Amino acid sequence: MTQIIYKNIHLENSHTLAVYLANGGYTALEKALGMTDLEVIEEVKISNIRGRGGAGFPAGEKWGSMPKDQRSNRVVCNADEGEPGTCKDRVILTQDPHMLIEGMVICGYAARAHQGYIYIRGEFYREAERLQAAIDEAYAAGYLGDNVLGKGFCFHLAVHRGAGAYVCGERSALIESLEGKKGQPRLKPPRPGIVGLYGEPTVVNNVETLAAVPGIITHGGAWYFNLGVPNSSGTKLFSVSGHVNKPGNYEVELGVPLKVLLEEYAGGVRGGWDNLKGVIPGGSSVPILPKEVCETVTMDYDALKKAGTNLGSGAVIVLDRSVCIVRAMARLCHFYRHESCGRCSPCREGSSWVTQIVDRLENGQGRPGDVDLLMDLANEAGPLGLTICALGEGVVNPVRGAIKAFREEFEYHVTHGRCMVA
Ligand code: SF4
Repeated sequence: MTQIIYKNIHLENSHTLAVYLANGGYTALEKALGMTDLEVIEEVKISNIRGRGGAGFPAGEKWGSMPKDQRSNRVVCNADEGEPGTCKDRVILTQDPHMLIEGMVICGYAARAHQGYIYIRGEFYREAERLQAAIDEAYAAGYLGDNVLGKGFCFHLAVHRGAGAYVCGERSALIESLEGKKGQPRLKPPRPGIVGLYGEPTVVNNVETLAAVPGIITHGGAWYFNLGVPNSSGTKLFSVSGHVNKPGNYEVELGVPLKVLLEEYAGGVRGGWDNLKGVIPGGSSVPILPKEVCETVTMDYDALKKAGTNLGSGAVIVLDRSVCIVRAMARLCHFYRHESCGRCSPCREGSSWVTQIVDRLENGQGRPGDVDLLMDLANEAGPLGLTICALGEGVVNPVRGAIKAFREEFEYHVTHGRCMVA
């Protein structure tokens, strides 16, 4: 892994306060507390860091939009990490929890919040234990509490374990769950920045985003801005999985060519580059890219959008030529159908219908016209605006993308009743 922001991760006992302090830990907090809240927000705005959870919204703008009156602002860290293929936040939670805690205290100071929560997915048992141990250390050393570093700033932090529902990665569903209710997304507006946790303005940021903040404050927003490419500044933790020789998490500057990420960092595609079939570049809810596009596309927000997909959470799933795309989509459809919270009909019904048809194709019972029917359904059920949250789009995006890139495989299932690669 290139080590620019998340540089302590490979150190022995990197999760402890002693190692964190020995490597410059909590100096950014000290620096931030010597600045005004607006100056801290300005640095984060200059850095142009965009949310690393998937939506890509600029963090500085989010912090800057928090009310400046006496309301009880909150900070929530989204550590739900449920997007298939994504396993980057858990590395920070396990190996460098103090970097996240420091980022949260700085965020709390900038957003005028005195209470923070880390919402961690229920299955992350070991990660939650590590996190709690780090929080206990931070309290004992004065980095959390009523008087942080003796500077008169009060910030408390608690860990809340979820129950493992994918939809709780959506920030308003996460807030509902944190409040002890059923984890279903809220209608918006109002946005959580206005009416969030317990009705108070709430900043919700992803683990990777908050953990990058100490580096931004230490080196300055301009330093971070100059990493990466225009409109996609900084580094990104890419979780590379699937058919590569060295799957893992790699920290790379945004704008890196996908081919370089796979061939130079992740050890190359299994069986060589020519054995590549396609890549899902941002977690399983974004459209797949066929090999021809993978040759030249770069890993940044604009380039991937132009290619018809999305950077998402940065989970890069590599599929070689042994993969039947219809079978792969059937897997994903079952996942999304199961995770739909059922609140809106395009997602609830659409995910079932799409799954039924893909299953039919996969089982050799496809009918003429099924591929067009699938595409119609995907176009009807998907667009954001018809559903309360983006999961509705996430259900159909992979199928729509797969048909666009590999239509002949779907048609082959109809005409031959089996997959092309069998
Ligand atoms: Fe629930 Fe799906 Fe509607 Fe989101 S889009 S609120 S997951 S039914």
